Amino acid sequence: MRTPVIAGNWKMYKTIAEALDYVEGFRAKEADGVETVLCGPYLTLPALVEAAKDSAVGIGAQNMHWEKEGAFTGEISPAMLQEAGIPYVIVGHSERRALFGETDEAVRNKVKAALTHDLIPILCVGETIEEREAERTQEVVRTQVVEAVRGLSSTKMTRVIVAYEPVWAIGTGRSATADDAQNVIAFVRRTLADQFDQQVANQVRILYGGSVKPANIDALLEKDDIDGALVGGASLDPESFSQLVDAAV
Ligand code: 13P
Repeated sequence: MRTPVIAGNWKMYKTIAEALDYVEGFRAKEADGVETVLCGPYLTLPALVEAAKDSAVGIGAQNMHWEKEGAFTGEISPAMLQEAGIPYVIVGHSERRALFGETDEAVRNKVKAALTHDLIPILCVGETIEEREAERTQEVVRTQVVEAVRGLSSTKMTRVIVAYEPVWAIGTGRSATADDAQNVIAFVRRTLADQFDQQVANQVRILYGGSVKPANIDALLEKDDIDGALVGGASLDPESFSQLVDAAV
């Protein structure tokens, strides 16, 4: 049985004061059966860890470098996240791939470094609208997954959370249909079974992301292979994020 995950990605929204207000307003569920994660901007993370310490909410970063330390101006290392008590980190988000030039190789280094530092990587994959229209969705997603997890042990692979986020569904209000999301996510699971084995593939949580909101979460979670959601816009409001968490309980 895979425990569902509902993860919020705040992107570049919320000051420290806004983040603390949010956590106060968020009815943190001591929910058995759902893993709740909030990924805030770096500056909010220590305050969020402190504010969420007696709740069931896990805190995550949205990116990191793969080296432990070094001359990398502007970067944050996995060791720094680990020391700050931040258990999750989003890796390979399409905004980082498209806007900040993150390559498959960088994503692989980050996945590996996260696991080495006992962090749980939330690995994002997904095709653009052009790739979908050219019927290249499976090829693109397969390459992103295979390149990111290459060389991992089976034990480490089972700790990775994968998020399928079609780029055309992010921030557009146009979610993939539950059937479309299920098809690609089942394909990701088959890809993991090819790379590792069926038992490993059955343990990996695979989320859907892209315009998830209270109105469409139920249909998505009903699908066999969809283990939760990575949520942008609808995670910014504590009330709608609570509704998404409730839907997964
Ligand atoms: P939206 O939920 O705003 O479409 O964003 C999805 C996303 O990019 C989460 O990482």
